[in-house]
Amino acid sequence: MGIRLYGMTCGWLTMPFQFFLPGREGWLMIPVGCYLIVHPKGTILFDSGLETTMRSDDPSVVKRALGQVAPLALPELGPEDDVATRLRAFGIDPDKIDFIINSHLHFDHCGGNALIKNARHVIQKREWHAATTPELMEENLFIRTNYDHGHVRIEVDGEHDLFGDGSVALVPTYGHTPGHQSLKVKLDDGEILLTGDCCYMRQTLDEMLLPDPKVARNPEQMRQTLLLLKGFQDRGAFLIFGHDPGQWKHLNDGPIREITMNGVKRAHTLYERSGPTCMESPLVNAPHMQV
Ligand SMILES: [Zn+2]
Repeated sequence: MGIRLYGMTCGWLTMPFQFFLPGREGWLMIPVGCYLIVHPKGTILFDSGLETTMRSDDPSVVKRALGQVAPLALPELGPEDDVATRLRAFGIDPDKIDFIINSHLHFDHCGGNALIKNARHVIQKREWHAATTPELMEENLFIRTNYDHGHVRIEVDGEHDLFGDGSVALVPTYGHTPGHQSLKVKLDDGEILLTGDCCYMRQTLDEMLLPDPKVARNPEQMRQTLLLLKGFQDRGAFLIFGHDPGQWKHLNDGPIREITMNGVKRAHTLYERSGPTCMESPLVNAPHMQV
């Protein structure tokens, strides 16, 4: 079918490790990954990374863009790291991307939507509902300026085969947020599931560990989602986790790079060999984090 999958790093976040895995100490620096899929019928961006305001020298601007997690999150977005600059460096005009699919509407997954002006925005109906209903926005840590930019929207309800050929399909993986979705990409030689944040890391799945309650809106649904992911694995699919530094370092070093089945298998083997080595950070502090 000639589909190509690419990954890129659109920023980094440093947050308390225990936010991702219960009981862990210290701070963890996590990559913010985005994906480009080139299909004969169109180009797709799966997640769009941090918004450019994260680069601001004004702590109040950064704080506003982070919302409730501001005291817990140190974002880093270099001048080359936003999604539009990544695409241009790869020879793709951001204005010519056909679809943006957001796994969900947290700031680190949709912050670049504003830079992708002409794409149609593909989102679960229930996610958009929560992201535009004030009390649900508050509960789910949604910040409207991250994602509401007037794109033509395609609201879907559950599974959705984007081109009708089974090659790029949305998989509902609710629980982290009300309408979280993952993306199944069928390459010529195997299937990859881009999990998004329904599963932050490989340890999340191996040990069935839910994250901080703030980001496990529906714990039971999240557990069911993890079982669904295990089913994908059992059937031979390879998973790329939401924010797993130990996996990501074997897949991407910043700019847009192709992700192949061989590359993902290699990352899997290296991970098994070296264990879940994470990039732990020393205690961090930033002006916007001072209360
Ligand atoms: Zn995230």
